[in-house]
Amino acid sequence: MYCYHHPDRDAVGACVACNEAVCPECKVEYEGRVYCNSCVQRMVSGDSITASQPATVLITGNTSGMGSKASVPRELGEWNWGGFLLTWVWGIGNNVWWSFLVFIPYLGFMVMPWVLAFKGNQWAWQSRRWDSVEHFKRVQHTWTVWGLGITIAVTILLTIMLLLGLGLIVWGLQQSGTQPFW
Ligand SMILES: [Zn+2]
Ligand SMILES: [Zn+2]
Repeated sequence: MYCYHHPDRDAVGACVACNEAVCPECKVEYEGRVYCNSCVQRMVSGDSITASQPATVLITGNTSGMGSKASVPRELGEWNWGGFLLTWVWGIGNNVWWSFLVFIPYLGFMVMPWVLAFKGNQWAWQSRRWDSVEHFKRVQHTWTVWGLGITIAVTILLTIMLLLGLGLIVWGLQQSGTQPFW
């Protein structure tokens, strides 16, 4: 039997709520019973898990997309370059709406990239469904590559514009017969 979400992977059990087969990545254990990720997501959003229960202790497995109560796998890493470099753009792609605090004048611009770098992995994991930790890492790696690429491109562009501007000033001063001031 193969996983309902991953036809190429062997199933290790079936969800007690919807009966679909689950692989280790899709399997979520809640109160000792096996569920699939989407059924637990529905239970969490429907609040049948009461606030008095420490959900982070009870739910194990692929807990992505289950909100702030869900535990976050350790192996996600500590630093999120995509959030640091692309802030709100990354936030849209990862359902992390906190990233829009970057638009708070001055403070947002200085503080939010650091917050997103440190909390980005946790928030992104909790706010949307990921197939697995590997899937999460793969997507975040793409964000890193884009973030670095865009940052480098913008830096080069600004440098060229600055040099062109300086060149024009020097040229202009020479035309008017004045020596540049340096
Ligand atoms: Zn299910
Ligand atoms: Zn699966």
